[in-house]
Amino acid sequence: MPIFEYRCEQCGNKFEAILFGEQKPECPSCHTGKLEQQLSTFSVSTRSSAPAASAGCGQSNCCMMGGCSEN
Ligand SMILES: [Zn+2]
Repeated sequence: MPIFEYRCEQCGNKFEAILFGEQKPECPSCHTGKLEQQLSTFSVSTRSSAPAASAGCGQSNCCMMGGCSEN
């Protein structure tokens, strides 16, 4: 299901909308149709949900392999 993220040009509200067919999104706050489409959040959230690498040397591969030398 395609989820799009928009930022309202009028009030600055950011929201996500699921669109079907030719449906046009509108701001849930001020109901304008002047929206700026943001980049998909999928790639961002995928990256930020990666295992926190802060526990060791900061290189995820290193510590996951059990070879972190910074401990
Ligand atoms: Zn708005």
